[in-house]
Amino acid sequence: MDSYYPLYINGEFKDSSNKQKITNPANGEIIAEAALASKGDIEAAVTSARAAFDSGSWREIALVERKDFLLKISQGILDKAGELARLETLNTGKPIKESTFMDVPSSAKTFEYFANHLEEFLKEETKELENARSQLVREPLGVAVLIVPWNYPLLIASWKLAQALAAGNTVILKPSSLTPLSVLELAKIIQEAGLPKGVVNIINASGDVAGEQLCADKRVDIISFTGSPEVGKKIIGYSSRNVKKLIMELGGKSAGIVLKDADLELAVNGSLCSIFLNQGQMCTALSRIFVEDDIYDKFITEFVEKAKKIKLGDGLNYETQMGPLMSDAQRRKVIEYVEKAKSEGAKLLCGGKIPDNPELRNGFFFEPTVLTDVMPHMAIFKEEVFGPVACVSKFSDRDEAIQLANATDFALACAIWSEDTALAQKLASRINAGACWINTYGMFYNEAPYGGFKQSGFGKELGREGFLEYTRQKNIIIDQTKGAKPLVNYWYGF
Ligand code: NAD
Repeated sequence: MDSYYPLYINGEFKDSSNKQKITNPANGEIIAEAALASKGDIEAAVTSARAAFDSGSWREIALVERKDFLLKISQGILDKAGELARLETLNTGKPIKESTFMDVPSSAKTFEYFANHLEEFLKEETKELENARSQLVREPLGVAVLIVPWNYPLLIASWKLAQALAAGNTVILKPSSLTPLSVLELAKIIQEAGLPKGVVNIINASGDVAGEQLCADKRVDIISFTGSPEVGKKIIGYSSRNVKKLIMELGGKSAGIVLKDADLELAVNGSLCSIFLNQGQMCTALSRIFVEDDIYDKFITEFVEKAKKIKLGDGLNYETQMGPLMSDAQRRKVIEYVEKAKSEGAKLLCGGKIPDNPELRNGFFFEPTVLTDVMPHMAIFKEEVFGPVACVSKFSDRDEAIQLANATDFALACAIWSEDTALAQKLASRINAGACWINTYGMFYNEAPYGGFKQSGFGKELGREGFLEYTRQKNIIIDQTKGAKPLVNYWYGF
């Protein structure tokens, strides 16, 4: 691990006069410094990405060559997997088991998948029309600004980079200024892979400084954003000044529904993961769990018992099952939500506080928390907490469960636990969410598109559909009239 991480602009690592200290949330210690882009650096990144796109150095190379570059990045990630996993854990606090087995290998696999499928996805389509033939050509959009959050810094950046690059765009990636380290390490892999200069630019910058400058710039053609609805709305505002393609992956307030015929152990364990993995800092966290009344008592007893056993600690320790929250500010926000919920009448069954363990004193830890008696009018029912807080309620009528699940402004994900998968599928069709898992949680596949509705955003990531978001379709119409004298050419009789 380096002690200093510069910006990556136009194929070179570049210092900046502004530097930022990067903290390990497990103990509050400074682990490195990262350059923080100035307005001049941001301008240089946009100029570089624009010039690289316009030169054709990336969009016009043979697809097989583009594929090779992406495969090199994928292999580069695998070659450095241990180092990247450690870095991700140090910077985000997430357990090393998660960064080792989820974040890092999945990042490599995404580059591999889009490398191997780009030729197929970019295939031209032909439509035979009356007296004409239409050729539908897939082109890159141009310069893509990719803005990612701090909860899955490397993984979400890799999704966006792999798709945007495979489609032939040039990019400016902006990580969260809390967690820039793993993507700046990825910049080294990209440089070693030998991509033409300017195709990838990675700038660590504060959102407030960089957001408007990047998103309102006319030379940018697409913005792919993952983050909070508040910032998403600002970006929609900036980009509206000169109309750009947008992909918006925003927040969630997702539901788990446990039916009485569910395999109880599976449902309890899956539900624990669905809210406590990554300290609950997941857009798809199932923060509201609705359990059918016949099994509610058993469910809640087991759920709380197991939640209490989750081992908190430094993410670098392989025994650790839950790390710290990302920052003190994030922890304060979570505490405020829990306190407010209690004052509004919710009942605390476990957690709800900073752990007493003195070894954890300097980190931003918060105990796995379970609340019941949560009502739809409460803030904790409606708003995204982004922390390890489960609200568990019982239902007796399945229509009521669907209604409760849908009673938020978000529509990102849900899970249904039942042995009757046909019934679960029927219920899933009535849930307002972009992803519904049945008897599992949180599985993402490069082959399958993912994305929310309503205030959870729009557009897809992953799969053919996600990839196509980073392209535009051009229609080339070739006249085929016999004798090549179509009526329109003689409309005025000349
Ligand atoms: P955030 O919105 O605060 O920040 C996300 C990114 O936007 C960061 O890089 C940040 O620097 C940048 N940013 C901040 N202000 C900006 C501005 N004015 N203009 C442009 N960019 C700006 O989100 P976060 O706190 O990093 O992440 C948590 C949020 O992300 C949660 O709401 C979560 O649900 C959401 N999220 C959604 C998905 C999804 O796929 N739907 C996945 C992960 C996280």
